[in-house]
Amino acid sequence: MPTAFISGIGGQDGAYLAHFLLAKKYRVVGGARSLSDSIEYSNLEALKIRQRVELRPFDLTDAASMRRALESSAPDEIYNLAAQSSVAASWKNPLETAEVTALGALRLFQSAREFCPRARIFQASSSEMFGCANGIVDETTPFCPTNPYGAAKTHAHHVAVALRESGAAISCGVLFNHESPLRSADFVSRKVSLAVARIQAGLQDELSLGNLDVVRDWGFAGDFVRAMWQMLQIEPADFLIATGKPRSLRDFVDQAFRVVGLDWQSFVRVDETLFRPSETPPIVADTTQSSTRLGWKPELSFKQLVRLMVEADIVRVAEKPDIAYFAN
Ligand code: NDP
Repeated sequence: MPTAFISGIGGQDGAYLAHFLLAKKYRVVGGARSLSDSIEYSNLEALKIRQRVELRPFDLTDAASMRRALESSAPDEIYNLAAQSSVAASWKNPLETAEVTALGALRLFQSAREFCPRARIFQASSSEMFGCANGIVDETTPFCPTNPYGAAKTHAHHVAVALRESGAAISCGVLFNHESPLRSADFVSRKVSLAVARIQAGLQDELSLGNLDVVRDWGFAGDFVRAMWQMLQIEPADFLIATGKPRSLRDFVDQAFRVVGLDWQSFVRVDETLFRPSETPPIVADTTQSSTRLGWKPELSFKQLVRLMVEADIVRVAEKPDIAYFAN
């Protein structure tokens, strides 16, 4: 039975990846910042896998915790999903973002080289690394991040590539946005789906958003974790993981309100204080490499994803337990 170690197992992708690997008969060990019975691992609980994964104390700022976690779990595969993952938070705390997202990844690569040198490593890179790029991007497009989060991810990515060139089995997935009912409500997709559910229930009558013209490539987290695993089954390389079909926030909002039969224009207010200090220009991912060399393609459409998120929030708002976290 192969062993996988997942940093950030309590996050959105960590939970979906753990679920995916358990179905493939992996032993799954997860790194979590603080372990205590009083702490809920709500994403693992939601997917009903909390009791099927082993948890280890693990902090990207603490090399000793990494050593103990890696030595005791002896993984065949390491997935580095832990990060300070929000662009907005990275403007508020750029130093902490660099410490966790950039240097934390480097610490993990070094610990892996020392304590489990045969393990294959997946690094979660980000489309935010493309920053000022415009138009079509692929695996050869140079990075030019425009926010502290993108800069931190770019640093980790460059170190990963350098280590790979010196023999380490590290692959980077340059991940475009991916969402799910487990997405934190700090992110705009979940803010929208939750607001639609609350508006439908009569608990809220307005939704304030920033720039509706921003464009993102929104995929489903359950599809993206499959790509992470596929990347570690072939020669180490970098792949863009995206649907290749970007949409505006306005499209997302429109689709979300349609799920409950409402017109978004009656409820949405644009608030300029919510605009980002610098917005990334629209980019389109060329997904040729992930579809041909990796054999990956997303299964859930944009419309299905938005519906899944809104319907899950409707159930949450009604406090019913039967939420669907995967599309049927
Ligand atoms: P989440 O924010 O949901 O999860 C991040 C996880 O990292 C959390 O479990 C968090 O733990 C953990 N973490 C934060 N700081 C530390 C630390 N100092 N030490 C150990 N763990 C820490 O992110 P996602 O699951 O959405 O994303 C997974 C990865 O993919 C991230 O690296 C993200 O940057 C990257 N990515 C995600 C994209 C997306 O659209 N989802 C797009 C591109 C890249 P805690 O629960 O304790 O806070």
